[in-house]
Amino acid sequence: MGFEMFLVEPIADTAAMLLTAMDSQPGGKWSSAARTVQAIKTNPPVESPLRQFIVAWSVLTIGAFFFYFFFSGLNYYFIHRRYGNLDHAPYPGQVRAEIMMASKAIPVMGLLTAPIVVLECQGYSRLYGPGTPHGYSDYGHTYTVVTALIFLLFTDACIYWIHRALHYGWIYQTLHKDHHKWKHPTPFASHAFHPVDGWVQSVPYHIFAFFVPMHKLVFLGLFIFVNIWTVSIHDGASIKPPSWLNGAAHHTYHHKDFSFNYGQYFVFWDWFGGTLRSPYDPGRLLNKNKSDKKKL
Ligand SMILES: [Zn+2]
Ligand SMILES: [Zn+2]
Repeated sequence: MGFEMFLVEPIADTAAMLLTAMDSQPGGKWSSAARTVQAIKTNPPVESPLRQFIVAWSVLTIGAFFFYFFFSGLNYYFIHRRYGNLDHAPYPGQVRAEIMMASKAIPVMGLLTAPIVVLECQGYSRLYGPGTPHGYSDYGHTYTVVTALIFLLFTDACIYWIHRALHYGWIYQTLHKDHHKWKHPTPFASHAFHPVDGWVQSVPYHIFAFFVPMHKLVFLGLFIFVNIWTVSIHDGASIKPPSWLNGAAHHTYHHKDFSFNYGQYFVFWDWFGGTLRSPYDPGRLLNKNKSDKKKL
């Protein structure tokens, strides 16, 4: 796994170097501890599912925390505070509560996702690139662009129907209600949900990679992109996107009246399913209709 080179080996080498430096003379007790630390580079073996699970969980959890705080923080200060939910400020302590919920969900989502990543590392998916028999040149630019577009359309369709199912009776009460605690979400609400809720909405991305050949870096890039997108649709900004795009205003409207706008990237499935409501119609404008405040 490429992450070995960027995560496990540098950590082991740095720890071993620091431990060795603690010895006043070569070969002391700290040097022997350093050798033990160095041994984790090969034991358990790099190809073992147990090791891949531990590394996958670590990378998913650290990566998710990094991207969550980085993109949500940037969005919060530069977009949400200027353009988002201007007439509906978050309630006191909401941002902290959103961060607390997301911080509990992220490590558990990592645990649920790590087994899928282990299967991908073991070669059961159609991902290609470093460490596999095929590379970028086997497929080329056109294939890469077309699969990326199909990936977005496929996952958008799956997430629409998964999201609708998450609003069904006991499923809603058990899994999705937590996320609808935020009537006027901030970007920090993007990952504030029940861990199974977040995980089940990520499964279509992996399903696609098990059936359609994709370059590993394209897959990773699109996975990061969906996280940025998820942050952006929670910033409450009423910046009108093209009519086929599901923007922040659509999703904020979903948080207020959750019978509509279940989509992720596009409005096609909401249109098809009869659940599309434009947040730009008079009376639904997020930042103009102050009377909404009295209803909530
Ligand atoms: Zn949401
Ligand atoms: Zn919902």
